Amino acid sequence: MNSNLPQAASGETSSAQQEIVLVAERLTKHYPVSRGWFRSGLVKALNGVSFSLARGRTLAVVGESGCGKSTLARQLTMIEAPTSGSLFIDGRDVAHDTHAAAKALRRQVQMVFQNPYASLNPRKTVEQALGEPLVINTDLDSRARAERIADMMRTVGLRPEQTRRYPHMFSGGQRQRVAIARAMILEPRIVVADEPVSALDVSIQAQILNLFMDLQDQFGTSYVFISHNLSVVEHVAHDVMVMYLGAVVELGAKGTLFERPLHPYTRSLMSATPSLDASKRQIQIKLQGELPSPLNLPSGCTFHQRCPYAAEICRHEVPQLRQVSERLVACHRVEEIDG
Ligand code: SF4
Repeated sequence: MNSNLPQAASGETSSAQQEIVLVAERLTKHYPVSRGWFRSGLVKALNGVSFSLARGRTLAVVGESGCGKSTLARQLTMIEAPTSGSLFIDGRDVAHDTHAAAKALRRQVQMVFQNPYASLNPRKTVEQALGEPLVINTDLDSRARAERIADMMRTVGLRPEQTRRYPHMFSGGQRQRVAIARAMILEPRIVVADEPVSALDVSIQAQILNLFMDLQDQFGTSYVFISHNLSVVEHVAHDVMVMYLGAVVELGAKGTLFERPLHPYTRSLMSATPSLDASKRQIQIKLQGELPSPLNLPSGCTFHQRCPYAAEICRHEVPQLRQVSERLVACHRVEEIDG
């Protein structure tokens, strides 16, 4: 495992004091597709993503639809195996290790989806939905399981007697609480939350975000929080990773990125979010054009066709992620732009 991986650790917390729970090393996912007779192609959804996540921290992953956020979530939760690269939990590469101990570590990563129906079987009561992971993964007897389920229901703000209900008998916010309870019932070290509040009424969103933060305080859980909504990210994240066409373009502490975004793509995302305090940012960039196809990635910097600062080098040379002003940025011209 490479100990020099990009970390989103900020000045708030020294990385030396942090317990690293997850390390992604050059995670890559390419999907082969047929493009008609005798022709095939590769959808390059994820292209060498590296980062580490510390205990009790929230790393928000942001970017437009199609930037690779959800593909990353499927690799982190081991729903899919990466084409190449490694995923370390407790120092063991769970993406490739078939050893039983590595398989056991997979339960340490749970997922919360945008739509709770994706994780809740409509034909099972909440008691069955929460009991199933305990039956499979623990030696608890039925009485101990019932107590654990009742405790978890209270923890997520529901009543224990509601476990006899089916998912459709809950409101949208309550259903997401049940989905969170199911993800947390085994007390995982890491939860990957993919747009967990975007389907909810705005009045409910803050309650669910506060629940995530309360659970983090109580259990020390680390979150990979995927969202296209920067106002939500500003509320929950410690660190932010900005992705464009399957690659990381900027990674750093939330305060650093929100106060002074450096990569032109990060600036354009923030310019497009009116609820953020635009007065703090000197430069506004309007995002032009469509996201290029991951079937045919642009050469050099993949953002060059939409970037107002693109120069000749940008069309030919891939910019590497490097340290600039307390964060990592992949841009040839970041110093000139910032100056
Ligand atoms: Fe823009 Fe060039 Fe920087 Fe890419 S490398 S973001 S095209 S200035």
